[in-house]
Amino acid sequence: MPIRGSSLYTAEHEGFRDTVRRFLEREVLPDHAQWEQQGLVPREIWRRAGQAGLLLPMAPVAYGGSGGDFLFTAIVVEEIARVMATGVAGFTTHSDIVAPYLVEFGTEAQKQRWLPDMASGDIVASIAMTEPSAGSDLKAIRTTATRASGGYRLKGQKTFITNGWHADWVLVVAKTDPAAGAKGMSLLWVDTRSPGFSRGKLLDKIGQRAQDTAELFFDDVIVPDDCLIGEENKAFVYLMHGLVQERLMIALRCATSLEASLDWTIAYTKERQAFGRPLIQNQQTRFRLAEIKTLAFATRALVDRCVADHLDGQLGPDGAAMAKLWASDATRAIDDLLQMFGGYGYMREYPIARMLTDIRGNRIYGGSSEVMKEIIGRTL
Ligand SMILES: Cc1cc2nc3c(=O)[nH]c(=O)nc-3n(C[C@H](O)[C@H](O)[C@H](O)COP(=O)(O)OP(=O)(O)OC[C@H]3O[C@@H](n4cnc5c(N)ncnc54)[C@H](O)[C@@H]3O)c2cc1C
Repeated sequence: MPIRGSSLYTAEHEGFRDTVRRFLEREVLPDHAQWEQQGLVPREIWRRAGQAGLLLPMAPVAYGGSGGDFLFTAIVVEEIARVMATGVAGFTTHSDIVAPYLVEFGTEAQKQRWLPDMASGDIVASIAMTEPSAGSDLKAIRTTATRASGGYRLKGQKTFITNGWHADWVLVVAKTDPAAGAKGMSLLWVDTRSPGFSRGKLLDKIGQRAQDTAELFFDDVIVPDDCLIGEENKAFVYLMHGLVQERLMIALRCATSLEASLDWTIAYTKERQAFGRPLIQNQQTRFRLAEIKTLAFATRALVDRCVADHLDGQLGPDGAAMAKLWASDATRAIDDLLQMFGGYGYMREYPIARMLTDIRGNRIYGGSSEVMKEIIGRTL
């Protein structure tokens, strides 16, 4: 029985999947190992992705997007995960995490001004919530935006920001009313050419090594009034809404990564011989693979159900949290799959070795597993 039984995807979706696959094979995979050494993908890859139609698949056509449903986004997430092209996983942060805040809460003028350039890859975008002293507890952030003539004066520091090195624009979460806690935060759209903006180091991660992750500094950056996204002091509400899709995307990535890792391992254990027979003929190996196949099957069933709910506009914060918690936890099994490769599993030229470190972050970002349990726990 195949793990993927979903009939959610139409022929049009599958055609798009082929486009994404071909783009990754042609433009990304040949150079990915070198980009991992550099810690960064070339800026030009963003424009090529824009030309190929990979950016902003869900944004309305009127603003340069492809006007597709969430399944187009799911396809980009899955295809990147399947071949571990983690250097360009930031495409989906840009397209399906940042752009939706502009699409859903931006003014007509804001959408017309920025979304077409995001769709073409002329603008690279990030979202900056996390700070050195506040990650899980978002309301404890210290970055402030105080009223200044014609806008806000932004002061603070952000860390672990995906696409931070290449970012032309950053959606910054800042306190506009520090006394009001979660009800005193706003979303500011910040031009990284502004005086007072600077980048710190490109961060050295254990996995996803070609993915640009950086520190950002805002030293009295003046942000004009027309760069407030949505209403002042409503950021927390907007983020709780946006994080549903972000967490579902992480769950999709984890489900796909587990399936890919299982496929590689089944093939390897059929071929590799020890004590005169293929590894898979050992009952211990076969039983563990059977357990992991069942885990992957259950994970896909859960994620598919949440994708279907999301397409119907019915996926809530607790559903997305359960999908992320379960699917990211399921990837712990990749450690056991790596074991079946013996010493080769420890060599980075084998995909399973990179997968182990590339996948680890999924239990941390987008809200950690512990935070997911808090969200689910509140609904009990
Ligand atoms: C590769 C990568 C990319 C990222 N990209 C972005 C990005 O683009 N934008 C962005 O804003 N952020 C980004 N992040 C940051 C990420 O969202 C945070 O790291 C995450 O939310 C956890 O915050 P923290 O690191 O401050 O950990 P902390 O909040 O300090 O937590 C430390 C540990 O304590 C646990 N913990 C916290 N509170 C509780 C509690 N009440 N009960 C039990 N356990 C608890 C946490 O779960 C965690 O295990 C990224 C992180 C990584 C690693």
